[in-house]
Amino acid sequence: MSEQRVGLIGYPVSHSLSPAMHNAAFRALGMTDWRYDAMEIPPDIVRYGVNEPRQHGYIGINITIPHKQEAMRYCKPDALARAVGAVNTIDFRTDIGTNTDVPGFIEDLTAHDIPLTGETVIVLGAGGAARAAVYGLWQAGAQVIAVNRTLDNAQAMLTELTISGGVQNVSVLSLEEALLDSNPALIVNSTPVGMHPSPDASPWSDDLPFPEGVTVYDMIYRPAKTRLMQQAEAHGGRAIGGLGMLVRQGAASFEIWTGRPAPLDVMFAAVNAALGR
Ligand code: NAP
Repeated sequence: MSEQRVGLIGYPVSHSLSPAMHNAAFRALGMTDWRYDAMEIPPDIVRYGVNEPRQHGYIGINITIPHKQEAMRYCKPDALARAVGAVNTIDFRTDIGTNTDVPGFIEDLTAHDIPLTGETVIVLGAGGAARAAVYGLWQAGAQVIAVNRTLDNAQAMLTELTISGGVQNVSVLSLEEALLDSNPALIVNSTPVGMHPSPDASPWSDDLPFPEGVTVYDMIYRPAKTRLMQQAEAHGGRAIGGLGMLVRQGAASFEIWTGRPAPLDVMFAAVNAALGR
């Protein structure tokens, strides 16, 4: 029986939860010939990082930080990947690259019964994760406000999303302006602020009033409850961490490669176990 291989390229990848998550899914479904491995690829050899697994018969790969943009050059990005400007999953049988961060994020919000259509949503950050969030939320009909430490970077993100994905009616504001002008239902943290090993940091400074009863979705999943999530709860709101997004983007990749429904419960259990929860 030949081995069916998939994997991850990134830099670094040693702390990735994806091998545990996917290999647990393969085991649970009796897919004993499938294996997922992590490959550490420095930024100067991304082309090699994509082409080597392809030439060695891999079925597909995930791509993570910092290669998601560069990897677009070495596959056929679909409309979603082109819109977001980043690819995180390639199927070598077709060479099509897509972005499962967008459905992973939106599906996790839906799984938590968070309404999006017509709701005002503040997205913090202007990196790759923020791009996926802004695009997915805009597609879902939310009124998106992009807020970032460096406003020029948020403006550049928005210009690119408009050109590549047709995104419209997203405003770029400072947090102070966003709070004056709107009554957000949801705040999404797409910055690394508050991530292990700096759990005391928050992208929401103590000088700023925190809206009452707002939902916070923090893409960070280490720690399980970030300072920002604690701030939301202290102000009568809901707080959701980013583990569900991680699992759901992985599940979407799993389904592309295998053609089988991903065992979500097994994947959640595997990442929780890997995180010691
Ligand atoms: P990134 O490209 O490095 O983006 C960094 C963004 O955060 C930039 O907009 C940057 O602002 C802002 N930022 C960084 N440090 C800051 C600080 N001290 N104060 C205020 N803003 C700061 O990162 P990314 O790939 O988008 O990822 C962002 C986060 O999302 C990470 O924590 C990552 O682990 C998480 N994530 C989670 C999932 C999931 O599945 N749950 C998926 C993807 C990403 P400037 O523009 O001013 O530099």
